Amino acid sequence: MQIDGFLGPGHVSMVIGTRPYEFIAKHYKRPLVVAGFEPLDVLHSVWMVLMQIVEGRAEIENQYARIVPDEGNDEALAAVAEVFELREFFEWRGLGSIDHSGVRVRKEFAAFDAERKFTVPDIKIADPKSCQCGEVLKGVIKPFDCKVFGKACTPEMPLGALMVSSEGACAAYYQYGDPARMRELEKA
Ligand code: SF4
Repeated sequence: MQIDGFLGPGHVSMVIGTRPYEFIAKHYKRPLVVAGFEPLDVLHSVWMVLMQIVEGRAEIENQYARIVPDEGNDEALAAVAEVFELREFFEWRGLGSIDHSGVRVRKEFAAFDAERKFTVPDIKIADPKSCQCGEVLKGVIKPFDCKVFGKACTPEMPLGALMVSSEGACAAYYQYGDPARMRELEKA
């Protein structure tokens, strides 16, 4: 595992607050800073993570405190709890099945549940064998290290989920990553 620290998502944290991240500091001894979205917010948050690493701390800090309350948004949390319930497990592309990692719409709101309305039985979308999205997601390798990065897998012809959206780790590396590495890939 090559992950030294995390930036927490400001938009999600605006609803859930900072408490749900505490296990990352307690159990995994990694710093996490909930970050805002302006360029200075991101830079400030990276600096806060680095300061924790330099000082040997692993804490949950809130850089986006102007928007994110540590306790979350009570009204939004109540609305989410009213409509959704925890699933026993959920199958994630690249990561496999993880217990209690997703939600489903409660039966009281079944009329609005696309999953019930348009049931497609037993559909599983396997990634092509050459894809290493799971390893990138888990921080085991960097996007550049995937065998098909920038060759068979590009934003124009994505093979894996991380290259599809511009927010995906591989798409971001492709667009903003080290230009020297990109030139090496082009030559290979
Ligand atoms: S998105 Fe493409 S380049 Fe990134 S890990 Fe998956 S297959 Fe590899």
